[in-house]
Amino acid sequence: MTQNCIFCKIVAGEMPTTLLYQDEQVTAFRDIHPVAPTHILIIPNRHIASTNEAAPEDEALLGHLIGVARLLAERENIAANGYRLVINTGADGGQVVFHLHLHLLGGRKLVHP
Ligand code: AMP
Repeated sequence: MTQNCIFCKIVAGEMPTTLLYQDEQVTAFRDIHPVAPTHILIIPNRHIASTNEAAPEDEALLGHLIGVARLLAERENIAANGYRLVINTGADGGQVVFHLHLHLLGGRKLVHP
């Protein structure tokens, strides 16, 4: 666990959240400022600051994030209509929390970008 990382605290159960899924590798919870009817964050339990810090051996873990997003999309009943998966990286990417996370967005028609 990385000191002062809010997402590490969520993984450790030290910060209140709406926990939706957790296994040995990943944790999923609702975004506190949702921008869509369904807005869920799926994160690795281990602290990885961003995709820039992900190592080649993390590829299976990154794939698992997508697999859990798909599972949650089905549970949220948004799979059939579709959804968006987003990973923001760094300042220009709009990343605010530096613990890698996958946004699952859906429940309404999303306009580009
Ligand atoms: P990003 O811009 O990709 O770094 O997105 C960070 C996301 O984390 C934002 O959508 C925030 O609303 C969300 N967020 C920040 N703190 C919390 C928290 N304690 N619980 C749930 N979501 C959070």
